[in-house]
Amino acid sequence: MIFIGNHVSVSKGWLAMGQEEQSLGGNTFAFFTRNPRGGNGKMPEEKDVLALQRFLVENQFGTLVAHAPYTMNLCSAKEEVRDFSETVFREDLAKLEMLPGQLFNFHPGSHLKQGYEKAADQIAAVLNRTLSDGQTTTVLLETMAGKGTEVGKTFEEIQGILNQIEKQDKVGVCLDTCHVWDAGYDIVNDLDGVLQEFDRVIGLDRLKAVHLNDSKNPIGSHKDRHEKIGFGMIGKDALLRVVTHPLLQNRPFILETPNDEDGYRQEIAMIREHLIP
Ligand code: FE
Ligand code: FE
Ligand code: ZN
Repeated sequence: MIFIGNHVSVSKGWLAMGQEEQSLGGNTFAFFTRNPRGGNGKMPEEKDVLALQRFLVENQFGTLVAHAPYTMNLCSAKEEVRDFSETVFREDLAKLEMLPGQLFNFHPGSHLKQGYEKAADQIAAVLNRTLSDGQTTTVLLETMAGKGTEVGKTFEEIQGILNQIEKQDKVGVCLDTCHVWDAGYDIVNDLDGVLQEFDRVIGLDRLKAVHLNDSKNPIGSHKDRHEKIGFGMIGKDALLRVVTHPLLQNRPFILETPNDEDGYRQEIAMIREHLIP
């Protein structure tokens, strides 16, 4: 089986996110660890987090996939941006420890004019300074579309960061279907081949979560424009093959499609119809 859900807003609190997702038919969800544009890192109320923790157990939810804010760029060419980003990363990782055992996904970043190698070293250095033996959160690097100077557009670029990490058991990967398609991986005609390639370069045991999105653009476009499931260039059949693939079971699948609540409710119901029992 898989766990399916979408991105929900934290604005009404932590328990409210679980309740909202349940009303949409999901059993996992994603949320920003702070305002996606940055914002302050104020801690949630402990009572609220404990209430969500109880809710997740009682309703047999899967692991949640928290998302770091977009303003975080651990490999910026500007030192002050890197410093700010490291603070955000450290604070949000600490915040997530209030709800033990979840996943924390982040975009590796954009290297601007520094080049990939320097960026990979900077990202790995932050992870090596912040990850701790005692933490229960697994940090995920997201596969990227390769828009501008984005790092993580190939499995090799992701692995080039991962293999520098000292605490190997604290890191993994989140595969975004729109991003890998836009990056040039043909999940429509050769999903098996793409997963084999992932396994060869990174290892499928490292794949901890999937962002399930259609794409507005053709393969290799490097655009990163998400589309509703079945309304883009990847298409419903190919995305259902992802959801039902034997090698991808028991993971959280997160919809990041341009939908309102009703749209998410319908997408979740459509995917549930096709799940392996
Ligand atoms: Fe993302
Ligand atoms: Fe994503
Ligand atoms: Zn995206």
